[in-house]
Amino acid sequence: MEHKQAKQRVRELSTLLEQYNHEYYVLDNPSVDDYTYDTLMHELADLEQQFPDLLSPHSPTQRVGGTASSTFDKVTHAVQMQSLQDVFSFEQVGSFVTRCHEAFPEAEFSVEPKIDGLSVSLLYQDGKLTLGSTRGDGFVGEDVTANLKTIRSIPLTLKETLPLVEVRGEVYMSREQFLALVKQQEENYEQPFKNPRNAAAGSLRQKKASITAKRKLDIFVFNLQQCEGRTFSTHDETLRFLENTGFRVIPGRSVCRTTEEITEAIRSIGEMRNDLPYDIDGVVIKVNDLEQREAMGATSKTPKWAIAYKFPPEEKQTILREIEVNVGRTGALTPVAVFDTILLAGTSVSRAVLHNQDFITEKDIRIGDTIVVRKAGDIIPEVVQSLSHTADAVPYRLPECCPVCGASAVRDEEEAVLRCPNITCPAQMHKQLVHFASRDAMNIDGLGSAIVTALLEKKLVRDAADFYHLTKEKLLTLDGFKDKSAENLLAAIENSKSAPLDRVIFALGIRNIGQKAATLLCAHFGSLDAIENADKEEIAEIEGYGEVMAESVVTAMHSPSVRQMLDRLKEAGLTMQFTKTETATDNFFSGKTVVLTGTLSQMKRADAKGMLERAGAKVSGSVSKKTDYVIAGEDAGSKLTKAQELGITVLSEQEMLEKLQD
Ligand code: NAD
Repeated sequence: MEHKQAKQRVRELSTLLEQYNHEYYVLDNPSVDDYTYDTLMHELADLEQQFPDLLSPHSPTQRVGGTASSTFDKVTHAVQMQSLQDVFSFEQVGSFVTRCHEAFPEAEFSVEPKIDGLSVSLLYQDGKLTLGSTRGDGFVGEDVTANLKTIRSIPLTLKETLPLVEVRGEVYMSREQFLALVKQQEENYEQPFKNPRNAAAGSLRQKKASITAKRKLDIFVFNLQQCEGRTFSTHDETLRFLENTGFRVIPGRSVCRTTEEITEAIRSIGEMRNDLPYDIDGVVIKVNDLEQREAMGATSKTPKWAIAYKFPPEEKQTILREIEVNVGRTGALTPVAVFDTILLAGTSVSRAVLHNQDFITEKDIRIGDTIVVRKAGDIIPEVVQSLSHTADAVPYRLPECCPVCGASAVRDEEEAVLRCPNITCPAQMHKQLVHFASRDAMNIDGLGSAIVTALLEKKLVRDAADFYHLTKEKLLTLDGFKDKSAENLLAAIENSKSAPLDRVIFALGIRNIGQKAATLLCAHFGSLDAIENADKEEIAEIEGYGEVMAESVVTAMHSPSVRQMLDRLKEAGLTMQFTKTETATDNFFSGKTVVLTGTLSQMKRADAKGMLERAGAKVSGSVSKKTDYVIAGEDAGSKLTKAQELGITVLSEQEMLEKLQD
């Protein structure tokens, strides 16, 4: 890869990984599985190694975890809470062992299950628990002492009184507790946690300790961070000491010497994985001797004396009961396998996408089959293979008609996809409208699937532009709508008129054009006019674009229905402006703490926050001496006054946009 391309890719990967980190560590709601995240992280690390000048100190490869949120007091860790270098093969384990043996031929290793939870530190002074904190970015975490105290297995007083003991452990939620919590969340129409790890993190970082208490978290301690009044020579000794002092110490560990012994220990931990009442996602291998550890040292992010071997995606067998056919936003008919529920990577799974007829034919998947399902990481399950058919099973063929409107399906040869060609198919219209209003598109709060169904049934909308012609009177004809709810929805629709152009393009639902592609397109052309007039070759030149995507854009921009839709949206008052933002490395706001106050005129506050964060800023809720800039919209109040008192630079919304564009 050439330097210019590498630079672009490094920026792109950094932005994506920042976003995933935020979703995972701050929101406890990841949008991609760990496997995808790890792959992207490795790609970035490889590029940085190949082009060392592209390595920025702000790169996600250089940072541990998330940032401490402002909900809790911040805690500076006396001993840095590092992450671990991950490896995915026994060969890499072997190289690690060889490296350690080169430095210390006698080195032994502690081999321990890697609990899939979140890392915390517990500090004891004179035998009493005085502080409990999350890892945060490894240097600064959050003070969650009150919440940690609700975990019964954390001793509040140690059996042996020493002046100072700090331990590190993993807080987790058992699978049983997780399944019960998800069931309860579903019953309460709440968004359920995606896996036990996110559930544990979300439960520990609650404002009210009484909620944490109800979530029944638990902990395993795996390291002695610092200790006054006692000395130890090996990690194993420290763990035995911690056990005797009253801690629940990581179980199932062993001390090994050779690569063979270690791989055997990894295998046996892997075999008991499914029988454990909690999730483990790998095995940690650590040099046992504490002096050897000290001598081997650390990188900025991970110790050199330890690695985490991550398990490959988990697989299980089940019975395929049915194949459902879903009609997508663009009319694609997607077969979905419905099978007996299995527990995979900590979550119960009963459905997996079967992609298309070719996929089904190639694997010869038939109803009634015993199939193998895998979860690559924590989110998307897939059918790996069919093991056996029942005696009467026949090869499966997708229906020739749309299961919703009955139109004859057509095969899109290039994509091997069957499509319903009827653009007025109720299933397609419904999905398209829900997509248009969704959070990543026009972000119209409250306009979800149920309301779209009701609007379509009452014929109040036919397409997305009709949303902008809804009135209070019309909304009040819908079941369950009152004055206030109608006003709120209309305000949200009005608000969406200032959505930036890339969101509008994404909201149109052009085939092959996702959120990222829409942003790249707008960043390249800058305006709708320029996009409408661009030719295929020009679009295909955009980094991240190919022929197929370019073709999709041109086809859409020349399609009368899309043109008409864009005209109607313009008439309705959509501004469709695009503001270009840079990635974290070289922006005016990079690494700065920014506070937003007052009413912004060109965008929602959440959007401004997102733009600033993408530019590398930390957006805080309150003004302090640490604030670098305050962005003041209209009617800014006490925060603006405080900023002026403290002599902090105040920028207008327009100035912020200009700085973001620089
Ligand atoms: P990690 O989970 O890969 O490993 C380090 C952690 O392991 C330590 O901090 C510690 O808390 C834990 N651990 C458990 N048992 C241990 C033991 N016996 N000894 C030592 N440590 C033990 O690293 P991380 O920095 O916590 O998280 C990074 C990982 O999180 C990524 O590799 C990825 O899989 C996942 N992630 C996913 C997303 C996403 O969007 N899906 C985003 C960010 C991170």
